[in-house]
Amino acid sequence: MPFLELRVMQVNILFPINAEGFTYLVPGELEEKIKPGLRVLAPFRSGKKVGIVVGLDKTTAITQDKEITLKSIESVLDDEPLIPDNLLKLIQWVGQYYMSTSGLALKNAVPSGIFEGKKGSKGRITYDHEAAPAKKINLTAEQQKALSEIISAVSGAFLLHGVTGSGKTEIYIRAIEELGDKEAIVLVPEIALTTQIVDRFRARFQDKVVFFHSGLSPGERITSWRKIRNGEVKVALGVRSAVFAPFKNLGLIIIDEEHEASYKQFEGLKYSARDAALARSKIESIKIILGSATPSIESFYHAKKGKLGYLELTQRVEQRPMPRVEIIDMTREEKESLSYSRKLLDVLEKNLSEGHQSLIMLNRRGYSPFLMCTDCGYTYKCPACSITLTYHKDTKTLNCHYCNSFLKPQDACPECKGTKIKYIGLGTQRIEEELHELLPELNLKRMDRDTTTKKLSHYRIVKDMEDKKIAVLLGTQMIAKGHDFPDVTVAAVVFADVALNLPDFRSSERTFQLFTQLAGRAGRGDVSGAVYIQTYEPEHYVFDYVRNHDYKGFYQNEIELRKELSYPPFSKLIRVVFSFRNKEDGVRTMKSVSARIKKITRPRNPKLKTQNLKSDFEILGPSPASIEKIRNYWRWHLILKGANSKSLRLAALKILESIKDIRDVKADIDVDPINLL
Ligand SMILES: [Zn+2]
Ligand SMILES: [Zn+2]
Repeated sequence: MPFLELRVMQVNILFPINAEGFTYLVPGELEEKIKPGLRVLAPFRSGKKVGIVVGLDKTTAITQDKEITLKSIESVLDDEPLIPDNLLKLIQWVGQYYMSTSGLALKNAVPSGIFEGKKGSKGRITYDHEAAPAKKINLTAEQQKALSEIISAVSGAFLLHGVTGSGKTEIYIRAIEELGDKEAIVLVPEIALTTQIVDRFRARFQDKVVFFHSGLSPGERITSWRKIRNGEVKVALGVRSAVFAPFKNLGLIIIDEEHEASYKQFEGLKYSARDAALARSKIESIKIILGSATPSIESFYHAKKGKLGYLELTQRVEQRPMPRVEIIDMTREEKESLSYSRKLLDVLEKNLSEGHQSLIMLNRRGYSPFLMCTDCGYTYKCPACSITLTYHKDTKTLNCHYCNSFLKPQDACPECKGTKIKYIGLGTQRIEEELHELLPELNLKRMDRDTTTKKLSHYRIVKDMEDKKIAVLLGTQMIAKGHDFPDVTVAAVVFADVALNLPDFRSSERTFQLFTQLAGRAGRGDVSGAVYIQTYEPEHYVFDYVRNHDYKGFYQNEIELRKELSYPPFSKLIRVVFSFRNKEDGVRTMKSVSARIKKITRPRNPKLKTQNLKSDFEILGPSPASIEKIRNYWRWHLILKGANSKSLRLAALKILESIKDIRDVKADIDVDPINLL
């Protein structure tokens, strides 16, 4: 019997799961209704699932054979497309570029309640305080010039490089005001930093701003998402996932503190919200502003090459001076405790007596990073990770900062039964305790991940700082970024050495950025500021650039190193992490993995390392990762390095293909990795 040829409409349906789209048939009565972006209900495995139509094929000829294998969608849930076309394109770009799946990108992009048919919370989202009305601010000549360039452009990417306190936020707000009926997305790196910026945006745009982030309840997320989708708001402000805000008439994206590592998601879909935003600006042909006082080396390089428009603010507003930076040499200085030099204590006391506030940073939470037996040298390690446990004095526990497990230390050493156990090294809890003992009259508050777990807790700390109920705010990098406290005139780093020598090609960049950002918190009001950095390595070259607020000098030094080693921006990287339940299995398996990789792609001659990577790429490793074990998995990794992102992705696919038949190995891909540990 000849095949009966039917012309039946097929659609590609994307579900919020880690997979690409699935093909379904469209029953005749739904053919007229179906469009990309609509939600449909479709049979999936033994049940039903809500998915999004991503592609149509109206004239597919299918045979009877094929018809049997394809299922039909059951119903269409929307009259109009729910997901704007440009957002669908972005979701597919993210899935493809990061070598993940469009389905996982969809899951990150759209609140899960949308697929569960939930309506969202009733009423509007309330804030527990009112933002003060906006003051009229006169722009500096530099601000005016930067703003004019942004306004006059139709599309394109700008790097807004403005020293701390130069008024970048004001430029963001004015650029949005000039958009007419178009909408804007504002990305900020961390929820903890948003209190003040949300206030400023609300003072200008009132309830036309939604604060869109993963910390919202599921109901709040749906409500915010639908408001954006229905054109009821002008500005969506948020962390990473706000890049997927479902605006239909977007005109501008702003990425504040574009250099921040937290724009990269480290778990699940490993995407960079900054780079996804750049992709979205291209898809939508709109403007994008990358703002920073300390641009990432990559962004500044692209600005120099003309790929980003360069806008510079060299002066603080109201001609306020940059703070004076002093390096305190802890090898020579008189010390009052483990953490504090006499000099720093004098500064803090004087600052308090003059009625000003201070910030003190140590980029390590907990009480001390080691608990050590002084008889045998035993230190507690996490049973699941190859990481030393950090002692937390408030809970009297040893905590793993990688897997969050903890244990109670014993009175005697588990190894030699000795009882001389010592706290080695500094954490934020310890510098708080020491300062409290040294200067009991000071009103202290600590801000780190441990004191800001409760909803609104960081908001309260910021308000108490603004109301001057706190004299000294101590904390991790959380206190260094973004805040604008006019009465802070002293900012200090207790032990700069924590950050100096990490085994990562970005560690100098991170250190320079962190100290410069912290310095930027001081002297933002009428009184000029000063910064004190305690270190045992005062000769380290980074301090020269921090002291002189010399970003460009730092850049010049750093870009030479990057070029010499062919690191980004001179190359692209893809990291593949292999993990194993068992250490010996890992060693054995990685031997055969290495052999197979050699066959498919011969690494470049290592002697040619300094040559530019135009057409070729190299493979570094595989080797055991710096952190050999996390959550009971033994880890190996390799790094693909080359000039062309596409050929790197192809090579990564070949590697995965070549090990497909090896059991018990999990391979995880990270495109443009931030962390190589
Ligand atoms: Zn011992
Ligand atoms: Zn652990």
